Amino acid sequence: MAGRLEIVCGPVGSGKSQELERRLFALQQARMPFLLFRPDFLHSKMQDAIKTGTDKRAVEFMMHVAGKFPEAEAISVDGANFYSLDILHAVETWMKKKRVICAGLDTDFAGKPFETMAMLLAIADDIHKLSAICTVCKKTATRSQIVEIDTKLPQDIAEQSAFYEPRCLECHQIPQDYMPKSNLRWMMER
Ligand SMILES: [Zn+2]
Repeated sequence: MAGRLEIVCGPVGSGKSQELERRLFALQQARMPFLLFRPDFLHSKMQDAIKTGTDKRAVEFMMHVAGKFPEAEAISVDGANFYSLDILHAVETWMKKKRVICAGLDTDFAGKPFETMAMLLAIADDIHKLSAICTVCKKTATRSQIVEIDTKLPQDIAEQSAFYEPRCLECHQIPQDYMPKSNLRWMMER
């Protein structure tokens, strides 16, 4: 099989990990071996992931592990936005021969594109942008709102929704210190 890069992205609460899990489940059903990498701090119900850091050394480790399992038909990365740009080299290597599936946030709480994700999106063969439902107005949510944890909620729900919630562009509020004039500013600041 020729390699390819698939991206699943969207805001918090859009089901990125679930979509990744669905694709991995299909591979499992077909008895096609795969690898799943995930930053160690990422809250996810997906089991059996190889937990890593997110820096250059972590990416070197991932390449090392992938090299040890040449039989893997697919290599997947959850929370891809959290990895350093070093992951681009790994993905570009893997996608020549394998199916690579990366899931992650496209923008941060200030609406700024995650650079790693922006680069991965540019070289992807297939992009699946997911949306969620705005917690304020119930319209389509494409942004991640930073919020305080609500201690009145049951703990499991509070943990799952801790600190972030999906918002539409209109209801998305950026903390004052992070307010950009437009996305152009992010590019100018580089
Ligand atoms: Zn809204």
